[in-house]
Amino acid sequence: MSQTTESIAEEPVFPGGSHRLDFGPGVTRLDVAGIVGPRGLSIAPASMLLGQARDQKLRVIARGRPTDIDHHPDAVLAKRISWPHAVVLPGLVNAHAHLDLTHIGPRNYDANRGFVGWVEMVRTLRLNNAEEILGSVRRGAELSLAGGTVAIADIAGAVDGRPNPTAARALVDSSLWGASFIEFFALPKPGEFAARRLDDLFAPLLTEMRTHAGGPVRVGLQPHAPYSVGPEGYVWACRIASELGVGISTHLAENATEVELIARGTGPLRDFLEGLGRWNSAVAELFGRGCSPVEHLLSALAKRPMLAAHGHALSDADIERLGRARTTIVYCPRASEYFGAQLELGPHRYRDLLAAGVPVALGTDSIIGLPPSEAVGRISILDEMRCLHARDAVSPSILLDMATVHGGRALGIDDSAFSLDAGSHPLGLVAVGVDPSARSGENPLERVLRTNSPPHLIYIRPRRAANKA
Ligand SMILES: [Zn+2]
Repeated sequence: MSQTTESIAEEPVFPGGSHRLDFGPGVTRLDVAGIVGPRGLSIAPASMLLGQARDQKLRVIARGRPTDIDHHPDAVLAKRISWPHAVVLPGLVNAHAHLDLTHIGPRNYDANRGFVGWVEMVRTLRLNNAEEILGSVRRGAELSLAGGTVAIADIAGAVDGRPNPTAARALVDSSLWGASFIEFFALPKPGEFAARRLDDLFAPLLTEMRTHAGGPVRVGLQPHAPYSVGPEGYVWACRIASELGVGISTHLAENATEVELIARGTGPLRDFLEGLGRWNSAVAELFGRGCSPVEHLLSALAKRPMLAAHGHALSDADIERLGRARTTIVYCPRASEYFGAQLELGPHRYRDLLAAGVPVALGTDSIIGLPPSEAVGRISILDEMRCLHARDAVSPSILLDMATVHGGRALGIDDSAFSLDAGSHPLGLVAVGVDPSARSGENPLERVLRTNSPPHLIYIRPRRAANKA
């Protein structure tokens, strides 16, 4: 018999923090208000039968309407958990984060100082002490887990202008899955090959990157942005990433300042580069050719699929180019509102990208741009989904694909890690309390998106099961 008609007015009590649901030996039956998964899976009310193998990989034995599960042979002896006012979804993927900036916390954006002023603020507040960087990433990882994240594409920021593996090490030591991308800057200098300089800078890091190439957290490369790395640096990153079997992430087409520098070779970013002593004849030659940021990087984008954060300034031709290049665009809705990208460049074209077959994943960007009220206790892709749902009325099932499989694929994680179908081994499970007074038949994910309830990561596959992933 289903227990979903029980009336419990307040939010169910979930295990939290490091005390996740202990599935233990045997079969657990979870009776909930609904389950939702990628590609439109939506059942309400729902029951799941879950079992945990010895390697602690959770397996969905069966899922369906409670009355269907009642008849399953494994239901007889199952331990029963009833959360009639919770919806269960797969663990979420944050496809663009800067956990090493967590110590800074949310800050106001000073529109008068603009994007360059903001970059200068981050340069001033960025940590350069290894212990402190480890602490900031650890805190960011905790907030991410509290946000229902199972996998993340995190950027290990350059320290004193040089690539630094500290933040990547912190992520490797966390319980998250995904990748850390080591950031670098590489504008050309006259008479010098940027590739040779990068070979020297990365020589001490390659062994470590290779070691993690098949692990639960890969260590990849992040050429910072088209205004701080020349196309030659991007092509170098493609070559190394392909040799090591790791991924590439970058910032691309983020704002009008970047568009101006690339197309015309002018504007605040040029002043900024001049102030840093990075402007020279070789750099001047790169810019001012009337190209869009995507066109400017086409030679590298075509070489290897990348995760490209933001993608605000995109023409129809750019969208076609991204489709051919198999680039995944990471849209960070709250960060984009924080920077006023919509005011500068018009609405983000994520729906046009999706329609053209370009995968769009969701990211949070750094905590600096998150609304202070929403960044208390969590960094969450669910809040990005809520932002888009409230603003654009995007279909919940499209949002869930953007929050799971689109980012997962770009991180080399198979779609099955986000499936809640029978026989699948989900990487994580998230439970969210919903308003008990919902209309019957209402889409369960819609109910999740309408509340502000925190996500609870009730299960994340332990990393000791990594070798069996
Ligand atoms: Zn970023």
